[in-house]
Amino acid sequence: MAGPIRTIPTMCPMNCLPTLCGMLVDVQDGELLGVRGDKDNPDSQGFLCVRGQASRQIIGNPKRLLKPLIREHRSDDAWQEVSWDEALDLTAGRIAAAGREATALWSGHGNLANNSGLSVGSQMLARFANLYGCQNWNPAMICWGLGGFGAGLTGALKINTKEDMGANAEFIVLWGANLASQPNTARYLMAAKKRGARTMIDRAEANRWFEGLPRFESRTEATA
Ligand code: SF4
Repeated sequence: MAGPIRTIPTMCPMNCLPTLCGMLVDVQDGELLGVRGDKDNPDSQGFLCVRGQASRQIIGNPKRLLKPLIREHRSDDAWQEVSWDEALDLTAGRIAAAGREATALWSGHGNLANNSGLSVGSQMLARFANLYGCQNWNPAMICWGLGGFGAGLTGALKINTKEDMGANAEFIVLWGANLASQPNTARYLMAAKKRGARTMIDRAEANRWFEGLPRFESRTEATA
């Protein structure tokens, strides 16, 4: 007889920072039955985008790789299943042959992002690179990685929240932003628009608006 269905509150594992939608996962006898948005999550309020909904296909997917594959030359049918020891020996041998100065590690964006910011696999790789003395490349996707860097440089992360923006901003520029990947920000953007705040999403439109402003250096002189 089938056991009871348990519902576990968690976060979307796709982890498109800083969205992190709340997720409810239904499990029965250790089997994943489905995922849905968590209405009690104060931020996402039940929203799960198509990527979040598709995340259930990761668990138990027969196409998921469970054993290492290696190939000696580049063709689709050259992959051969090997043991973990063989894969490790091959990797260690290639690294030793190249030397640490010619070795760089890259964990891949999925490994970095798919465990809600802990990035354990990615950080283990960085630790190995530190101990061994080779390079380690940050695998953040260029889109949100650089976007986050820009927001940090301009101080926006320290003084603003999306709630603050929704309640108080009079003019909002979403420069090259992808709102499809920022649904929890979009809610506050709509709130600001309802208050009468001016918003610009299109990059070309924002550029036209900035063209009409004095250059930054001129404004600094005027202030002084
Ligand atoms: S926007 Fe989509 S992928 Fe990103 S955390 Fe929310 S449900 Fe997951």
